[in-house]
Amino acid sequence: MILPRAGDYIDIHNHGGKPSPGIFIVENLMAHEGRMPSETEGMAFSLGIHPWFLNETNISPLLSVVKEMAAGDTLIAIGEAGFDKLRGPSPEIQRKAFEEQAGIAEAVKKPLFIHCVRSWDELLQSHKRVKPLMPWIIHGFRGKKELAAQLISRNMYISFWFDFVIRPESSELIRSLPSERIFLETDGSDADIKEIYSKVALDTGISTEELKSIILSNFNRVFKRQEE
Ligand SMILES: [Zn+2]
Repeated sequence: MILPRAGDYIDIHNHGGKPSPGIFIVENLMAHEGRMPSETEGMAFSLGIHPWFLNETNISPLLSVVKEMAAGDTLIAIGEAGFDKLRGPSPEIQRKAFEEQAGIAEAVKKPLFIHCVRSWDELLQSHKRVKPLMPWIIHGFRGKKELAAQLISRNMYISFWFDFVIRPESSELIRSLPSERIFLETDGSDADIKEIYSKVALDTGISTEELKSIILSNFNRVFKRQEE
């Protein structure tokens, strides 16, 4: 398992990212793409079925792909998986794919990356059914602080939407959350992870170096596999 080093910027959710000096990325592979995780310096991999690319026909072959690869050493997490009211198949299929993947994450004892658009009730209902022991990480978050607090109270972590996190209106939300529950990401966009760290450090009144070390300990707490 390849881990970030002290002083690295951690980009917790990327697509098509390339590692570069001082930046550690978590590349999110989608099962329908057929890409494979590998031992690559400066990066780690997650694999899941994104709700946008899910349908009645591919659900079961894609779940088999996730199941087959889930335990592999090069995968540090499952997902992104989740719910989207604006795009993707029926809520029923989304729920099935999501809960199956959450179950796989539990079975291999890995955290789960979550994509959730206007489906917080569905997500919370699934959380009640699955009762996960593994942490869930909400990526691309730009909701209200009350919602974030509710998710955190259920052992979830919050990674902010790259375009929201650099805007002034996100500062209040960022300040309201315990920093041991947050991650930062570019989500495969052109956003600069260093700029995102600077903004969040400024919001929380700490230095970028301090923020890096907090997010590194968050990473180690959530992803580092304990020897069994
Ligand atoms: Zn994504």
